[in-house]
Amino acid sequence: MNPDLSALIAGMGEEMVFGQALARRAGRGFELRHVADRDAAAQSLQSLAVEELRGWAQFAQGGAFRPLKSAPNLRRGWRATAVDGTALGLCLHHLYPGAVADWHAAQAQPPPVTSYREFAKRQTGMYRITAKLNDAAAGAVVRACCHPDSCLKRRLWTVGQLKLDGVAEKSLIPCLEPCAILVELARKAARWEQEAAARPAPTPAERELHRQEAAERLQHPDTDSPESDFDAPNNPRRLRFILENSGGPVTPGVS
Ligand code: SF4
Repeated sequence: MNPDLSALIAGMGEEMVFGQALARRAGRGFELRHVADRDAAAQSLQSLAVEELRGWAQFAQGGAFRPLKSAPNLRRGWRATAVDGTALGLCLHHLYPGAVADWHAAQAQPPPVTSYREFAKRQTGMYRITAKLNDAAAGAVVRACCHPDSCLKRRLWTVGQLKLDGVAEKSLIPCLEPCAILVELARKAARWEQEAAARPAPTPAERELHRQEAAERLQHPDTDSPESDFDAPNNPRRLRFILENSGGPVTPGVS
């Protein structure tokens, strides 16, 4: 068994919640299921082979593709048996690719993280603009993008004074650097900032109206469009960004 997995299993006790997967010791092996099915009778759950978990994790309830496996929309209704630690590692890999290795890496002090600033500095081409966001706007991007309703990874990197995520609000799975979805939202935010600078500044009343409309739309977020389609008016990250950044200079139209 690889050392990443050995360390995780050694610290898990009788059970552990990893993302939305609940793993419990069962004899010499383990039983896995969705954590929301913790108390469900085993016979009421669909039995999946270890290899089937990969396909199960590809699609949300309703059939939408899940590009970000750490999104909190893993389907319920399944259980799988891992005969030993190696099989448990395979199950977790199918559900959350690379997450066990990241968990182990994050045990180092300090963990090997890349901050927003370092990450943005390395960007080339159309993503270079992400370095132009100030700390307040970049923080709004991060709060909008990494919100627990959109991603369960625990963010261990930061920008400005933004506090890190905790296990309780997210999960054991760490986030060691900004992901592609976050960088795309940062790029859009920088563009919105440029466009806003070319327009007359909104009045406080216009800002408030804008904020209220975004808050209302967020009650019915668009979960069918691609996660990083930030032109979609009801994209939840876009709407959260409008709310998070309502005091700042960026004012993308709600529609
Ligand atoms: S950058 Fe944010 S949204 Fe992306 S994986 Fe990390 S925590 Fe999740």
